[in-house]
Amino acid sequence: MMRDCVTIQSEYDTRKKEDDMRTWRDNIRTVEPYTPGEQPKDKNVIKLNTNENPYGPSPRVSLLQEDMEELRLYPDPAAALLTDGIADYHGVDAGQVFVGVGSDDVLAMAFMTFFNSSLPILFPDVTYSFYDVWAELFRIPYEQPKLDPEFRIRKEDYYKENGGVIFPNPNAPTGICEGLEFVEDILRHNQDAVVIVDEAYIDFGGQSALPLLDQYDNLLIVRTFSKSRSMAGLRIGYAIGSPELIQAMSNVKYSFNSYTMNRPALLLGAESLKDEEYFRETIEKIIRTRTWFGEELKKLGFTFPESKANFLFARHERENAEDIFIAAKQNGIYLRHFDQPRVKDYLRITVGTDAQMQALLEFLKNYLN
Ligand code: PMP
Repeated sequence: MMRDCVTIQSEYDTRKKEDDMRTWRDNIRTVEPYTPGEQPKDKNVIKLNTNENPYGPSPRVSLLQEDMEELRLYPDPAAALLTDGIADYHGVDAGQVFVGVGSDDVLAMAFMTFFNSSLPILFPDVTYSFYDVWAELFRIPYEQPKLDPEFRIRKEDYYKENGGVIFPNPNAPTGICEGLEFVEDILRHNQDAVVIVDEAYIDFGGQSALPLLDQYDNLLIVRTFSKSRSMAGLRIGYAIGSPELIQAMSNVKYSFNSYTMNRPALLLGAESLKDEEYFRETIEKIIRTRTWFGEELKKLGFTFPESKANFLFARHERENAEDIFIAAKQNGIYLRHFDQPRVKDYLRITVGTDAQMQALLEFLKNYLN
């Protein structure tokens, strides 16, 4: 016998009521996830949206057949090959280095390890948009002091009592880099909390906080192989800090997943560190392109803060940033636009090769006419 619509509706209503009463839904951790930049499938796209390096990694970075055969084995949980390589490279002890699956992984571990106070952690209102996602995920209270009108961090905002401090230097997405004195001032005012300096973009002309490590055992510097070492696809990030901080992070890591770093990442990361010449050359090329492209961009009516990163954060005197973003995309050029109140007039443009930037300039010239 066929059931009529009324019966079906009433069965559905009963089931829904039962479902709604189940408490498991109340116990789901709900979060608003981070939105990564688009990774288009089309290889012809000029991809200036996720601050990748337009050049390949060092030619030393390649696997041998015997390395492939070893993939059947678990990797070294201590990731010693890479950790030792990074320690040598920076002239610190291996016990001061923690490695992870990209600096996102390292930062997430650091949030979990160090930010457990009931006081809010502090980071700028305009900054890497993963920080508030981790704070929400780990239920860490946070405050976001406003950058000044020139988009600079106001150090005085970080003098108050807090549960920790984190900021990128250079900041993202602004590209503005503060000097060592500035970073030290924040450290001097925050000796009771861990201070994380996210140096994802430091190699493109900024001054690292590494010299401050000897004096401040609450300083954690986070770095990545994704930008200056052209290895975003391999996912390698690291932190350098006092042995006490690194030990605490390792304990959390080993409580989570012992084998975070895969064998190719360990081998190839260590190889990349051995090719200083290639590393320097690639950075020089990007800095040269940044300077030239910036000048050209100004001629078209754009302004941007001085960048020490591999991107420019630019606005046009007249045209709407989102419209440019959409039109560029339709023309096969991907840029990044953040639809948030303070930055919606800006485009974040990754510095690619000269040819890629030339293509973007041609598009912009046409668009603006
Ligand atoms: N920090 C900042 C400021 C970034 O812009 C990025 C890149 N999205 C990261 C960290 C993470 O980079 P990765 O995980 O590739 O090391």
